[in-house]
Amino acid sequence: MPSDRTAVVIGASMGGLLTARALSDSYPRILLVDRDDLPAEPAPRRGVPQGRQLHVMLARGRHALEELFPGLSQELTDSAVPLVDLHGRMSWFNDGYPMALRPSTELVAAGVSRPLLEHAVRARVAELPGVEFASGTEVLGLTATADRGRVTGVRLRDRDGAERTVAADLVVDSAGRASRTPLWLGELGYAPPEEERVQVDVTYVTRVYRHEPHHLDGLLGTLGNAVPGAPRAGLALVQENGLIAIGFSGMHGEQPPVDDDEMLTFAQTLTAPGIAEIVRSGAAVTDGVRMRFPASVRRRYERLRRFPAGYLVVADAMCSFNPIYGQGMTVAALEALLLRRLLAEGEPELSRRFFRGSSAVIDGPWSIAVGTDLRFPEVEGPRSLRVRFVNAYVHRLHIAATADPELGAAFLRVLNLLEPPTALLRPGTVLRVLRGFWRGGAATRPVAGRPGLAGDPVPPTVR
Ligand SMILES: Cc1cc2nc3c(=O)[nH]c(=O)nc-3n(C[C@H](O)[C@H](O)[C@H](O)COP(=O)(O)OP(=O)(O)OC[C@H]3O[C@@H](n4cnc5c(N)ncnc54)[C@H](O)[C@@H]3O)c2cc1C
Repeated sequence: MPSDRTAVVIGASMGGLLTARALSDSYPRILLVDRDDLPAEPAPRRGVPQGRQLHVMLARGRHALEELFPGLSQELTDSAVPLVDLHGRMSWFNDGYPMALRPSTELVAAGVSRPLLEHAVRARVAELPGVEFASGTEVLGLTATADRGRVTGVRLRDRDGAERTVAADLVVDSAGRASRTPLWLGELGYAPPEEERVQVDVTYVTRVYRHEPHHLDGLLGTLGNAVPGAPRAGLALVQENGLIAIGFSGMHGEQPPVDDDEMLTFAQTLTAPGIAEIVRSGAAVTDGVRMRFPASVRRRYERLRRFPAGYLVVADAMCSFNPIYGQGMTVAALEALLLRRLLAEGEPELSRRFFRGSSAVIDGPWSIAVGTDLRFPEVEGPRSLRVRFVNAYVHRLHIAATADPELGAAFLRVLNLLEPPTALLRPGTVLRVLRGFWRGGAATRPVAGRPGLAGDPVPPTVR
């Protein structure tokens, strides 16, 4: 293999950075192009508006990051990033049912803001030999061979408006949801990929407070999910430097507020009771920031019959998930591990092998996100018998998990992508769900989320 090979990565956000890491074992020169001026410090930026919203790196993603960047977890911990035992130090109100807690060493997430995580990963990537960043530079399109069978590079516009081309042996599109690959494929005479869209109309609001030891009764996080009829959810999680972020989300027209009083009223309607206390008494260090996410989108590149050589699409550009399940960065990291392995095996048919493999990576998280979203009557899509059965079953699992921490662990392992969704249907788990449900779980009533008044405590669970 010639030693002067160049790869160009479009977009230097999490997807692009992780891709660059995967490429660095095979490509001596990697150019990461981003139209933003990349900040020298951890800071939100224009091209990644979701960076101001609460992000969770799932346990599987943390492991994958560690595989790509050994020692990163420790480095983050050294930067005052807390590790959160998601089962032992976080309260869960799934469909309103409080999950029994149990200490865990495998279900551990890092409480890190999105800008700090991206900053730490970018610093690691910048240290890799042969990696160069072209920031403030927009990719305008692709260049290709005369027969258009192979992508040969990219057309760029620098921050001063000058246009130039850069030749590359491999180009990877990691430009996020707004990826222009479907359009660029058309320009080269290829069909665009089929696109699956699931309209969820999610609105997010995030606000960051100083973390006080009494918040959440000493726990480090809490979550109360949205349910049909009450499509609003709340999440709180500690972050670096003694902060705690709260995230509200609403679906299908529910608009979480950003104004102080309205935020408190909203928080009091959530099933996770501790969030209201943070809003009521916490010292806010940011304003509430709102962001809309209209639809989950999956582009089925693996189904295309023709695709140019020397070109790939990764991360959100291929599939962007309803963010309330916190999957995007973990999937991007798993795709990077896949790409690294496939490159080590050789490059013939790389795009076909990569799209097939990443489709398998995406299937599980996509089925969790879309399957759960289909509980809401407003979400359009086929509700197969399997989807309806699984949703009814998982609801019963949440009820039984109020008394059986083994079931809580099984659920969290799937949610954290440590195990496939089918793990919940193992005979031992099914038996525990049935036993727990009939042994009194059926009589358990959920914590009520309701339009509350200031100072009005949320009632405890009634058994
Ligand atoms: C509200 C919200 C909350 C989320 N919460 C979570 C969470 O809790 N956990 C989680 O894992 N994931 C979460 N995600 C998803 C996560 O943010 C993404 O999966 C992750 O950022 C990877 O995306 P990406 O790198 O593919 O694209 P992006 O992060 O969207 O980045 C695309 C990059 O490409 C650049 N770019 C675009 N076009 C061009 C061009 N033509 N030329 C040059 N540069 C270009 C942009 O400037 C940007 O830097 C959330 C998303 C949203 C919207």
